[in-house]
Amino acid sequence: MNKWRCSACGYAFEGEAPPEKCPSCQSVCSFVDANCYIPDCGGGSL
Ligand SMILES: [Zn+2]
Repeated sequence: MNKWRCSACGYAFEGEAPPEKCPSCQSVCSFVDANCYIPDCGGGSL
């Protein structure tokens, strides 16, 4: 399971692949890999 984060609104998504459209800001934004490489990833499940 990978973690992704919307680069526009910061919505966090967990799944195999990032969604085509962000459920939060409803825009086709670019999801960035957020597998907790950074302290402020907001995950904490690692
Ligand atoms: Zn978004």
